[in-house]
Amino acid sequence: MKLRKTALVMLIALVAAFGLYAQGVNESTAAISATVANASPKYVFMFIGDGMSSPQTNSAQVYNGTNVSGKVELEKLTFTQFPYVGIQYTQDSTSFAPDSASTATSLSSGYKTHSGVIGMGVDRVTAGETIAEKVKEQLGWKVGIISSVTLNHATPAAYYAHIASRNDYYDIGLQMAQSGFDYFAGGSLNQAENGDKSLYQVMEEAGYLVTNDRDTILSLNADSGKVYAVSPRLQDDGAMPYSIDMEEDDLTLADFVRKGIDVLYNETGFFLMCEGGKIDWAGHANDAVANINDTLALDEAVEVALEFAFQHPDETLIIVTGDHETGGMTIGYAATGYNTAFDIMKNQTMSYVAFDEAIAAEKEAGTFTFERLMEMGEEAFGLTAPGTQNAVEALVMNEYEYARLQKAYEDDATGNTDGYEESLLYGGYNPISITLTHILNNKAGIGWTSYAHTGLPVPVYAYGEGAESFIGAYDNTEVAKKLFALCDVE
Ligand SMILES: [Zn+2]
Repeated sequence: MKLRKTALVMLIALVAAFGLYAQGVNESTAAISATVANASPKYVFMFIGDGMSSPQTNSAQVYNGTNVSGKVELEKLTFTQFPYVGIQYTQDSTSFAPDSASTATSLSSGYKTHSGVIGMGVDRVTAGETIAEKVKEQLGWKVGIISSVTLNHATPAAYYAHIASRNDYYDIGLQMAQSGFDYFAGGSLNQAENGDKSLYQVMEEAGYLVTNDRDTILSLNADSGKVYAVSPRLQDDGAMPYSIDMEEDDLTLADFVRKGIDVLYNETGFFLMCEGGKIDWAGHANDAVANINDTLALDEAVEVALEFAFQHPDETLIIVTGDHETGGMTIGYAATGYNTAFDIMKNQTMSYVAFDEAIAAEKEAGTFTFERLMEMGEEAFGLTAPGTQNAVEALVMNEYEYARLQKAYEDDATGNTDGYEESLLYGGYNPISITLTHILNNKAGIGWTSYAHTGLPVPVYAYGEGAESFIGAYDNTEVAKKLFALCDVE
């Protein structure tokens, strides 16, 4: 009886507490709704880290933090300090491990579609309108699209193109020229010569100044007209180099955002989307250091937008999110248990792509041996053979890791890369470079579960006018719908 009474009292207390809690929630929800209803941003920045979720952002924070026992600390990114944070679910109509075409379509346009489809619904026919198209047509805003990868790749294309297959690069490029958007910048174009005319010529005929000259790009301004600024230095695949491989003079994402503001700034408004596209590519290749450095480059680009926001308070909204996670990256690895040693990753001096190129050059010169590989591995990743004297202990390979590298060397030499085991080990990448990044990453305490995308939800960071709208957990289509409402477009 006594027990029952106590239980009753506790229940009453709980109900009362919940009542207060619920009242508090209702009040703060009402306050946020009122703020959001009155918000009217006219300068909107949308940053998308392709393949960037919490593991990627936090790895970047750990990488620059301290790993000393008793003083383990993060070095925060700029955008993770934004006051409003939400989380979006990324599944598309095909899968819980979606692709960039469908997820970017959801982010830009507010509806679901199949993997591989850009700017069209699940019927692969019905085209929707993107936030960029809406603000341009309905509000007369200027629009800019930046990507570190090619500009007719899935994510940037999802802001201006409507096409059933992301692989129809030439047709996507034609739609880019027809978009009438004011500023394109970053990588070049995939399959630019696959039609009657070069896509660059098509862009010029549509009134764009197309330039890859550094000085010309750096002198662009509001009077430059419609511009396509191509990075003066590109990789063979048309993308900007990985941030870790960049040289002093190379233009960064931050440079292209700065120039974007110069070109787009006007009294009416602008929308600027900037994609860190190679975070995803490094995720596919399980190269944590390339991944982290490109996340840091995206953060630097966000800083430029934030400086603008400080100068234009009450008018600027900045959103930073990803389209999906790539690689099944995580902090923690089976063999390292509760230990992390992220500081050893500072020994990596180049991306897997640059290392692949170095291997190719050695092969070309006929000087590629396992001994030579060990020298190169130490130079590029800091890793040394078992038993090496006077080496950083954390970077000395154990016998298991050394045997893995020997197998990778042999598999690369014999072309034994097609079996089930090899697909698990190498995922279609160069057996040697992927084994070296795996060894270094695992020693540091980073695990990878995939060479593809995963279904991990993705954070949304928001700053500025209307930013409150982005708190909560919601579907990725809501990101576009929230923008439509805030910008007051239909
Ligand atoms: Zn991807």
